Amino acid sequence: MSTDTRTLNSASDTWERARRVVPRGVSSGHRVGWEQVFVKASGANIWDDQGNQYIDYINSWGPIVLGHCDRRVNEAVFAAANTCDLTGVGPQFGEVALAEKICEVMPSADKVAFCTSGTDATMHAVHIARAATGRMKILKFHGSYHGWNDQVAVGSSRADLTPGSPLNTPNGAGLHPASVADVVVVEWNDFEGVRAAFDEYGDDLAAAFTEGYVHSFGCVPAAPGFLEQLRELCTKNGTALVFDEVKTGFRSAIGGFQSICGVTPDLTAFGKAVANGYSLAGLAGSNEWMGHLGAYSKKEATIDGTYNANPYAMAAASKTLELMETENVIPRLYELGERLRTGIAAAITEVGIDACVSGLGSEWTVYFRKELPTNFRQAMESDATRYATYHASLLSQGILEPAFPTGDRRLNASTTFEDIDRTIEANRVALRAAAE
Ligand code: PLP
Repeated sequence: MSTDTRTLNSASDTWERARRVVPRGVSSGHRVGWEQVFVKASGANIWDDQGNQYIDYINSWGPIVLGHCDRRVNEAVFAAANTCDLTGVGPQFGEVALAEKICEVMPSADKVAFCTSGTDATMHAVHIARAATGRMKILKFHGSYHGWNDQVAVGSSRADLTPGSPLNTPNGAGLHPASVADVVVVEWNDFEGVRAAFDEYGDDLAAAFTEGYVHSFGCVPAAPGFLEQLRELCTKNGTALVFDEVKTGFRSAIGGFQSICGVTPDLTAFGKAVANGYSLAGLAGSNEWMGHLGAYSKKEATIDGTYNANPYAMAAASKTLELMETENVIPRLYELGERLRTGIAAAITEVGIDACVSGLGSEWTVYFRKELPTNFRQAMESDATRYATYHASLLSQGILEPAFPTGDRRLNASTTFEDIDRTIEANRVALRAAAE
């Protein structure tokens, strides 16, 4: 069979061929549900194989923060690759520089270790917390996604929200039941629920995982005092507070959401925006907690990986963070995001539809319900039929957004104010269609 990509000359051909050789045609589950096949990306835009251009508001679910195919980042990667590729020996030059930078900007970071995906980072956080405390249980919030490890891939399936069903339902088959049983799942923003969980399991909780600002089911902030209460209970019970900043890190602020909310976790998992699309994630934390990361011993957790801190990702991240600072990227993301949310809110009022918009900085979500949700169940009440009409209308107007109602969307720094105004106008049209 030919492997020449030029023979993949239409979306239907590509899907057909893909399904023959890749389960469901994609190597990452959330990529199903599209007819399009994208073949080109640049700045704020992507193009499908039919030559249709879209403003991209998925941005690969977070990594693309400067813009697609950023030449400066790519050149830094080529330079690194042409200087010294993988050696597998000792520290990498870029690793030290990047770790120093992250320790400088991220409040929880005394030390940093790198890996290649958010799933790796949250897995290592679980191992450190268990090694440090000798406890097994993990607390997490309903609907929050932290990757695919057995220890946390629980309680965030959009498929099972039957009233009365347990919150700690596995996200998929194949997870070890004993791991699942060790996960305590609490509804987001449920103060009483968190207190009750600590009352019941406090002595057994190795870690409490949370997104500082939830993006797993759109854009749902913590209620005032919620993160502070969690911090207090973790400290009191000797439980590691783990912030999952895989989506917020280097996007909501260079130092992550923790530098906005003022609550400092013990450990932070990060990834996505740190390297503008190159595969990089990591774990940061205090000297005390990160001190439990060693190698091959019964007492210490281990981090080990052929591609950890590879020079390509290090170069991409160092250049991305440099550009974010020198080009004032975060304020630009906030200005663009604020203008968009304000415009969408005005369009919602004008159309008179039961919908609302929420978000932070470069991220936003439109919910088809009267009031902003405060937890997963409420977010899932967003009207799926209206959303499908809204989504299809936006797509036909050249606006690419997530295909499911609770998906968070985000812009990148190459988005222009003209793009934003066009998107507001497209929203007006799409909201009218959804209201019919
Ligand atoms: N944590 C959060 C909050 C995420 O959104 C994701 C991925 O979307 C992950 C962890 C897992 O990261 P990765 O896809 O890099 O494994």
